[in-house]
Amino acid sequence: MLLHTRFDPWQHLRNTAAAGTFASPAMNRRTFTRGTLAASAMAALPARQIWAQAASSAAIPAEVAAIGLTGDSVTLAAADIRDLRAALSGALLLAADDGYDAARRIWNPAFDRHPALIARCANAEDVVHSVNFARAHGLRTAVRAGGHSLSGQSAPDGGLMIDLSSMREVRVDATQRLASAQGGALLGEVDRATQAVGMVTTLGTATDTGIGGLTLGGGMGRVMRRFGLAIDNLAGMDVVTADGKLRHASEQENADLFWALRGGGGNFGVVTNFQYRLHPLGHKMLSGFLVYPISRARSVLAAATELAERAPDEMLLAVELINTSTPPIPPGRYAVVAVDYSGEDPAAGRKLLEPLRTLGEPVFDTLAAVSYLEAQGAVGAANAAVPDASSNMVRQWTESGFFDSTSDALFDELVRSFEAVPADLEAFSAFQAMGGAVGRVRQDATAYWNRPAKYDYLGGTQWTDPVQDEVGRDVSRAMWAGVLPFTNGYYVNTVPGANNQRVRATYGDNYPRLVALKEKYDPMNLFRLNANIRPGTANG
Ligand code: FAD
Repeated sequence: MLLHTRFDPWQHLRNTAAAGTFASPAMNRRTFTRGTLAASAMAALPARQIWAQAASSAAIPAEVAAIGLTGDSVTLAAADIRDLRAALSGALLLAADDGYDAARRIWNPAFDRHPALIARCANAEDVVHSVNFARAHGLRTAVRAGGHSLSGQSAPDGGLMIDLSSMREVRVDATQRLASAQGGALLGEVDRATQAVGMVTTLGTATDTGIGGLTLGGGMGRVMRRFGLAIDNLAGMDVVTADGKLRHASEQENADLFWALRGGGGNFGVVTNFQYRLHPLGHKMLSGFLVYPISRARSVLAAATELAERAPDEMLLAVELINTSTPPIPPGRYAVVAVDYSGEDPAAGRKLLEPLRTLGEPVFDTLAAVSYLEAQGAVGAANAAVPDASSNMVRQWTESGFFDSTSDALFDELVRSFEAVPADLEAFSAFQAMGGAVGRVRQDATAYWNRPAKYDYLGGTQWTDPVQDEVGRDVSRAMWAGVLPFTNGYYVNTVPGANNQRVRATYGDNYPRLVALKEKYDPMNLFRLNANIRPGTANG
């Protein structure tokens, strides 16, 4: 269920449904390009049309039990809910309403939560109403964009889900080399729009991931070593802060907020629109993976990391230990090198990989010259919807951290802890090279602190039967226990329930400034379902 077309540290997390939805590249490339160009404002989702259909709401009970910011009980009166519903252009869903069950689901079904209210915002004004409502009632509040939170942060049990999944319009200005995307857009939608004019901006590697969560935490992707993280390409954002004000944040306007939003995750408000700078990238990339028997894991780790440290910015390498039962390779454990080379000449990328020949022949080799969209798995008919996160059936538990260096001791531990994973549980232990343009940005230039990190580690387990929930979590944690001592901070977009100490370590010297900005923009900590920067914790 995990192996589709290529590997990368995020590959294991991809939605099987997502991979199956897009038809073959050859079949659909023409249709896509024509459709995309004709549309010009691409991927606009007719939110009103869709949610107008879901208008058959059940009667609102006289009182609705909800959960407050600190886990306390809150009772919402029918009249207040009715007022919010009337104010919204999008739908407000309660548990008995049509569409509630689908709307509450997020990508990781291991988090099966039931919000008291789901505000399916159609525009920034709806977000303002929702934030004001949440603040006034002290409600547990979560923001849902692509719904890919690995740790279930976007689904609040008993709270208010501010759902941006109807706000997905993407516009591209090829002359200015800018893309503007609403806060609920999926990255496949942005990729399609930018590639239609031969451009790209750094986003992640799974088409159905939301740009919202991904960008605010940093945003790692295939071209990050050339063009920086997603946040490094932001020209501006529109954001509704906890006081219900819609603000623009850029280097010129609300520069402090702009700084905090770039890496500070969902702590500082609800971003309704992102503006990205674009880079030309119309040629084919070299992309794919080399699969080796697990018996060669130690040599693969050593050879791939040695190569990664000397590689040009155009090359992104990742190394992965996987236990898979997914075709096309026979079930079992493997060591994998994932390759993305975005230089002009794919042959030059192949040449760079020559040192890997010492590893012998891979059992599987998918390296190929492909378009950026093909590498992203985003080629499809112009109007083919990127699959909804709620269609994913694979449950996950992941852990993550940054490596500042590698060593024999680390490789030994990676191999040892992976060997301990039961044969019948799908698992991965993977890390990708950082550096390049990511590492050249000053650590205090944005909230994202871990610029010097050499690698980003992501390990975890996957299963489908809820009966395996405990095993999946425990095995993942056991694997992680051995790796943790080698890490320094973690990628905030990945980990469930990191404690405050770990959040601090991750933000390093930027932490006190982030706390001060949290106190300025969200003193009541309305936005706390994230890697939370708690007001009042700058010194203690
Ligand atoms: P959601 O679940 O909708 O949101 C997660 C959290 O982000 C929210 O709780 C909220 O705190 C915040 N948030 C989201 N949107 C907004 C907004 N508009 N305004 C304010 N806050 C917001 N990460 C990478 O860097 N690179 C990858 O290649 C990559 N691949 C992935 C592949 C898969 C299959 C998965 C599941 C995850 C991947 N990730 C990757 C991790 C990803 O960055 C996070 O899961 C991210 O949170 C997803 O964003 P989302 O909008 O889909 O999530």
